[in-house]
Amino acid sequence: MPFTLPTLNYDYKALEPHIDEQTMTIHHTKHNQGYVDKLNAACTNAGLDDPSWDDLFKVHAQVDTAIRNNGGGAWNHAFFWDSMSPTGGGEPSGSLLEAINTTFGSFADFKTQFSAAAASRFGSGWAWLGVKSDGTLAICSTPNQDNPMMIVDTVSCTCTPILGLDVWEHAYYLNYQNKRGDYVAAFFNVVDWGKVQERYNAAVQAG
Ligand code: MN
Repeated sequence: MPFTLPTLNYDYKALEPHIDEQTMTIHHTKHNQGYVDKLNAACTNAGLDDPSWDDLFKVHAQVDTAIRNNGGGAWNHAFFWDSMSPTGGGEPSGSLLEAINTTFGSFADFKTQFSAAAASRFGSGWAWLGVKSDGTLAICSTPNQDNPMMIVDTVSCTCTPILGLDVWEHAYYLNYQNKRGDYVAAFFNVVDWGKVQERYNAAVQAG
């Protein structure tokens, strides 16, 4: 089977009090594992031995709902875990901060707009910061497990994600109940801006 559950770079309780141990444990071992298992089954059903993410997202996602949902679920969660760190939080710097200031006005304005995208996503989905093909930044959100790399009908914000936030209720309900806004605010205390800068550099270089 080509896909496996990603290893976390920190303990389940390491992001407390912002993201609690029980949520992290269930989210990683149950939800993420489920997407990985179902993606492997979907690839078997589709006759795909070792598909690339590009192939899954840009070709198969359009016609295969199981690959779309579980491929997104597997990729998005691995990306999400890597977007956070126990030593995260604070603000970006360098070229990423310059780009944020240019596009959104300031880091505070970026946080406001990203939080609004996360808050206004109806039902389940994700909020994203990404790099568009022209090298500029964009904020967007996608429903379900779709992401901005997919060529599917719900995605009008095609870009390379550099930060993603899971706003499914399973990501926050145990600790925050209906208060999604509190969860989004807490997320900023654990964002690994060094990782986001690395992704930004790679996306800009790739053009
Ligand atoms: Mn999730």
